[in-house]
Amino acid sequence: MSRLLIIEDEAEIADLEKDYLEMSGYEVEIEHAGDTGLTRALSEKFDLIILDLMLPGVDGFEVCKRIREEKNIPILMVSAKKDDIDKIRGLGLGADDYMTKPFSPSELVARVKAHLTRYERLVGSHAKENDIVEIRGIRIDKTARRVYIDGEEKTFTTKEFDLLTFLAENPNHVYTKDELFREIWDMDSIGDIATVTVHIKKIREKIEYDTANPQYIETIWGVGYRFKV
Ligand code: CA
Repeated sequence: MSRLLIIEDEAEIADLEKDYLEMSGYEVEIEHAGDTGLTRALSEKFDLIILDLMLPGVDGFEVCKRIREEKNIPILMVSAKKDDIDKIRGLGLGADDYMTKPFSPSELVARVKAHLTRYERLVGSHAKENDIVEIRGIRIDKTARRVYIDGEEKTFTTKEFDLLTFLAENPNHVYTKDELFREIWDMDSIGDIATVTVHIKKIREKIEYDTANPQYIETIWGVGYRFKV
């Protein structure tokens, strides 16, 4: 459940906002002064702040600025004066939205909902992002260790995956078989540079349309290999 903080000195307005937001399924806390509101906003976990501009103690300008220095949660600023709203917009304090009092409770709920949705999408997209390498029809998901060729998943052994990923992440760079062997295999592992040749052949069988005429991993005769872009 999303948790909201209302910082508002007029108790009647704060209570009305709280009622409507609670009916919409939010958990709501109220603070009536700027300084106490700021303390709670910084020390507790809230998903959104509704902030009145004219407040006793520390005013809304300062509260907004101080919250923004530490948190990127949505801040909705409210004021009785249209002029003040224009002024705070001009100051660029980092508030996400502005409302002039009086406003309808349903409008407040709609705006809160929109900002929370946008914020959750923003936060969620960062948490879920995989590390992807994409070159022409090849898509390597490093996080999931999966490879897709033109959208179709192909199975790779651990070393084939590591070798393909290494080459794809360093395109147009020619590596000798020695360099590739040292890069992908442990120093003391059994095998030699012929292992590299075998793995390149297997990778090509999975990614190339025509292994006799490779479009991705190119052989540089007498030197080694490079991933073409
Ligand atoms: Ca006020």
